[in-house]
Amino acid sequence: MSDLDTPRRKRFPLTLDDTRPAASKVTPARTSSAPSPMASRTHGSLGLDSASFRARMVDRIRLDGCTDAEVLRVFGEVPRHLFVDPALVSQAYEDTSLPIGLGQTISKPSVVARMLALLRARPGGAALSRVLEIGTGCGYQAALLCGLARNVYSVERLKALHDKARENLAPIRPANLRLVFGDGRLGHAPNAPYDGIVSAAGGLGLPQAWLDQLAPGGRLVAPVQSAPESREQVLIVVDRMADGRWVEQRHETVRFVPLESGTRDHRPA
Ligand code: SAH
Repeated sequence: MSDLDTPRRKRFPLTLDDTRPAASKVTPARTSSAPSPMASRTHGSLGLDSASFRARMVDRIRLDGCTDAEVLRVFGEVPRHLFVDPALVSQAYEDTSLPIGLGQTISKPSVVARMLALLRARPGGAALSRVLEIGTGCGYQAALLCGLARNVYSVERLKALHDKARENLAPIRPANLRLVFGDGRLGHAPNAPYDGIVSAAGGLGLPQAWLDQLAPGGRLVAPVQSAPESREQVLIVVDRMADGRWVEQRHETVRFVPLESGTRDHRPA
């Protein structure tokens, strides 16, 4: 396991914005730190301002039905183009999933917005204190979560993506995020219980560890495969009651990458 504890220097070619100076910030929920350079820098050669691309993306997410002002706010703040391959940067603000390597994808913004809004709409209050994300991927949703929760823990099973997420997040340096390399089917016991758990990968059922690590009053949002062999998944919401029971709701059909077992570290020897 490793943590996002030492911010690294940025080293990717950025084609929409130059992120070097700390120009703006993702506003973390109820935390004062987490400076994040971004948002309104202009790309010299194209004369494009990524903030206006983000504003259009936020409009589309709103039109898609998201009314949660806090969710819309973080989508307006986090520069999605920092999390996609430089070759795909022109599509960064479209409502589409994009490949991030190793067969994985950054999820479609409207679907991410739907999951974050569901997470915040738990009975008993919207303010999230401790959130666990399963499937860090490129780190984009983790960055969004950092603007919505006091503390975010994000687990990724592919070491190369875990490392890439850390690089992608370096310019933002969210102080309230811990990146964990491990099998997210086990949750992340050291920081449990969580009042929010969100998975970006869907398996046949919900791992018992997620249910156990959900605090009373907490909510879990995850895709679950409809049937063995099926690529179709259903978005499931589970609320944990004060007496420890779990109450499940099933929502719409979605399509996420599979929840896999174990970890993979392909680093050269
Ligand atoms: N939230 C991510 C979405 C990444 S796609 C983003 O914003 O980019 C889902 C991710 O889940 C993939 O990176 C995949 O490797 C990861 N994943 C699949 N099974 C996992 C598991 N058991 N534990 C942790 N991560 C897992």
